[in-house]
Parts: sequence; C-alpha cells; structure tokens
Amino acid sequence: MPNSSSSPLLSVIIPGYNEEEVLPFLREKLDHVLGRLSVRSEVVLIDDGSRDRSAEIMREFARQDSRYKALLLSRNYGHQMAITAGLDHAAGDVVVVLDADLQDPPELIPEMLAKWKEGYQVVYGQRTTRQGDSWAKKVTAGIFYRFIRRLSGVDIPRDAGDFRLMDRKVVDALKRMPEHHRFVRGMVAWAGFRQCPIFFERPPRKAGTTKYPWRKMFQFALDAIFAFSVIPLRISTGIGLLIMGFSMLEILWILYLRFILNITVKGYSSILIAILLLGGLNLLILGILGEYIGRIYIEAKNRPLYLVQEFVAHPSADQNS
Ligand code: UDP
Ligand code: MG
Repeated sequence: MPNSSSSPLLSVIIPGYNEEEVLPFLREKLDHVLGRLSVRSEVVLIDDGSRDRSAEIMREFARQDSRYKALLLSRNYGHQMAITAGLDHAAGDVVVVLDADLQDPPELIPEMLAKWKEGYQVVYGQRTTRQGDSWAKKVTAGIFYRFIRRLSGVDIPRDAGDFRLMDRKVVDALKRMPEHHRFVRGMVAWAGFRQCPIFFERPPRKAGTTKYPWRKMFQFALDAIFAFSVIPLRISTGIGLLIMGFSMLEILWILYLRFILNITVKGYSSILIAILLLGGLNLLILGILGEYIGRIYIEAKNRPLYLVQEFVAHPSADQNS
C-alpha cells in the first residue's frame, strides 16, 4: 500500500484537451464534492497538449490548492494516453477517472467509493441515457460495443466510457501493460478483478465543444479492434478458403467444358469479375495484415508512451509516489 496513514487517499484523474471553458466549473464541482468525502483526496489534471489556456489554468489550480496537481504533457497524445499518464502519476489507494467536461458527474464519487468499501475493485459508470450526444453517435457507439465484445471475447461493459473507480491493484495491473495503442476500458475489462456498474444519466457537456471528431472516433474504434482481436486475420483466412473452394469447383467445370464437351467459353465478364473481386480482396486483406504489422513495428520501437513537459504540485503537497 502506498499510504500508511489512517485514511485512504483518493486520486481523481482528469484528462483535458482545450478545456479552458469548463475547468472553472470543474474546480467548483470538485471542491464541493471532495470537501465532503471521508477520505483524503488529490486531483491529477492532465493537460494533453492543449492549444488554449488549459495548461495555465491547471498550473494555477496546483499553485493555489495542494490537493491539485497538474501534469502537462509535451504534446497532444490523445485521451487514452492522457488517462495512462494520469494513472502513472496518481498516488492514491483508489483512483477515479473522469472527463473534464462534467459529463461524468463528480457527484457520483461517494457512491463509487461506497462500492469500493464493499469490496469492489472496479466500479464503472454505465449510462442509462446520453443527453447531448447526437443520434448518430449513440447508434455508432451501440454497434461498436456489440461488435468489439464479440471480437475481443473480453467482457467490455456496454454503454460505459472511461468513467470508473479503480483500486490500486487494478492501476498497478494497468501499469504492467506496456502497449502503445491503448483502449483503456478494454484493458480494465481484461484485467478482471471484482467489477460492478453504477448507473447514471449522462448529461451534456458543460461548456466547450467535443474533442472527439469523427476522425478520432474512427481511429479509436480501429485501435480497439486491432488491439483486442486477431479475428480480422481469421476472417481473411475464412474468405480465402471460401474463394478457394469455389475456384476448385469452377476449375473442374471449365475443364469439363473444355475437354469433355469441347466447348471454349468466351467468358469476358467472368474474367473481369474474378480480376476485380480478387484484386480488391487481396488489397483489403493486405491492409488488414498491414494494420497488425504496423502495430508490431510501433511496439518494436518501444518508445516511451508519452513525454512529460512539467509536473506541477504544490510545495506542501504530500508526495507519496
Ligand atoms: N481529451 C483528451 N485528449 C484528446 C481528446 C480528448 O484529453 O485528444 C479529453 C477531453 O478533454 C475530455 C475527454 O477526453 O476531458 C473526453 O472528450 P470529449 O468530452 O470531447 O468527448 P465526448 O464526450 O464528446 O465523446
Ligand atoms: Mg464529453
């Protein structure tokens, strides 16, 4: 245990990218919620290479209040890496990850802590409704989660984001997973331990705009699939076998026509179809192979996951890590 003093320490980890509009609201909410907890707490704010004043505001919070720490990354690494960096710098016996935009209500922290005290090591927020998320986002998210659960064989909870409480044991387990393409909610599900949901209505973003445009969401989905499953490779094998079987029959048929019936078929269409179909399929499967090879290459380079520009903690903050 990192802390020997009587009351456990809670670390609240909050990644932010261009969140200057919401940070003041976030602080107000956190001060209110954390002030009423029976446990000690620290807040690790992660600036994921923002271009606005987020980093300055976070630094300011850390100077004003010893509970706040600001971890400024050297550039934008993405949401999942920012969470990873926060987990690495958290000292708590128990950790809660939440979004900066107040879509993951800090008011639920006491309820999560109660579950933790009951003995659960992971408590994840499951959304009953998602106000403020577009119709298209809800539908694609629904399809994605059903798909990834099937593909990965890991029991990744539906309708749950990265809003979760994790025991120190789980955080240490995550730290032992060195992969570069990180799908944190999948990694936590993979880790196992005693998990339980709490249900909440997801409110709309408090201020500012989404930092997940379609491009990033698509990337996120691909990362999840390729990081958690080799089934796309098996699908390629399956398609290959199917086409091979079909080709065998076709070859027998052609030989029969040629040598038994002595008919030579002109077959322009069938040749063109075969060329186009197989050409396209070849490229597709090469692409799938390429995704995995690219990932092997990135892992083989073994670069650090992220670089830290600055870690700002109040001079009086108790350093446990
Ligand atoms: N975020 C981040 N780095 C990024 C993109 C997003 O740290 O490159 C943070 C963002 O500041 C927010 C959280 O990830 O705290 C979730 O992002 P957002 O609310 O924009 O996503 P949405 O709720 O729209 O899916
Ligand atoms: Mg949000």
